[in-house]
Amino acid sequence: YRKCGMLVLPPFSTAKALTWCDTHATRLEISGARQIIPELAADEDALWLPDVAQARNPRLLKALRRQLELLGVPIHEQTEATGWRCNGTLVTGIHTNHGMLHAGNYIVTSGAWSRQLLGKHALNLDIRPIRGQMLLFKTVPGTLRSIILKEGIYLIPRLDGHILAGSTLEDVGFDKTTTEEARAMLHAQATGILPLLKEAPVVQHWSGLRPGSPDNIPTIGRHPQLENLYINSGHFRYGVTMAPASAEILASLILGRPQALDISPYRWQAGRK
Ligand SMILES: Cc1cc2nc3c(=O)[nH]c(=O)nc-3n(C[C@H](O)[C@H](O)[C@H](O)COP(=O)(O)OP(=O)(O)OC[C@H]3O[C@@H](n4cnc5c(N)ncnc54)[C@H](O)[C@@H]3O)c2cc1C
Repeated sequence: YRKCGMLVLPPFSTAKALTWCDTHATRLEISGARQIIPELAADEDALWLPDVAQARNPRLLKALRRQLELLGVPIHEQTEATGWRCNGTLVTGIHTNHGMLHAGNYIVTSGAWSRQLLGKHALNLDIRPIRGQMLLFKTVPGTLRSIILKEGIYLIPRLDGHILAGSTLEDVGFDKTTTEEARAMLHAQATGILPLLKEAPVVQHWSGLRPGSPDNIPTIGRHPQLENLYINSGHFRYGVTMAPASAEILASLILGRPQALDISPYRWQAGRK
């Protein structure tokens, strides 16, 4: 990851931000926006978080894959899990389009598709797809150095000059199409914040389906009835950020290790809505 800092533009609650940063031992300064980023459309009081960092998710995934390969973990690509074989309270196998797979423990990590994969075993797990669309601008490297956040719209500068603008929050089911409406909205918001983007070409427009869950709280835990079935899903907007800690929680749960924090909010409760 790369520390680049994040500038939060108004509206915001300074008191809430100060409390949050204090609780989470995060540095925060109140600054004139253009003192940090001179190219901004407006100069106003802003919140500057110098320690915020970014990661390029495709590269993160490549590194994760390499690490798994080095550990000798088998990876079954293009393999769809289609159903469960159970015996009493145990899962004894998982059906896939390439035959049956067996393991001691099973972990559902299928994001927005978790309910589909679980079928009747989903009980009342509440995870559903929330579409997010993004635009990628191409600028000269160094055009923007820090992340900008304004009212849910963010600009993330990559070292090679790409600037990511996102994102929409759309409850449209399993539909990953991109729309002209979202493109226009993201373009208007991004150029409204940073006018120089009007001259920058948009080189990509894509969407993804986030695993949305109530109050943004993921479910990380054991199935209420099947003792060797676990889930790590429902991370909504923060699945990349929360991945290491979530994996740690689940590994500790399966291996019977003590937890570093209270994990009860993440429990898979038969009655959880
Ligand atoms: C526009 C956008 C911006 C985002 N920005 C951020 C951000 O800045 N920071 C952050 O932390 N998070 C961000 N997120 C959220 C993050 O991408 C998700 O929280 C995260 O990807 C969830 O991880 P996951 O592994 O649970 O699910 P996914 O990443 O959705 O992975 C689930 C996988 O399971 C596979 N699958 C589904 N069903 C089956 C099956 N039956 N058999 C086999 N495989 C199956 C799917 O093909 C998929 O590959 C963003 C999301 C979007 C859409």
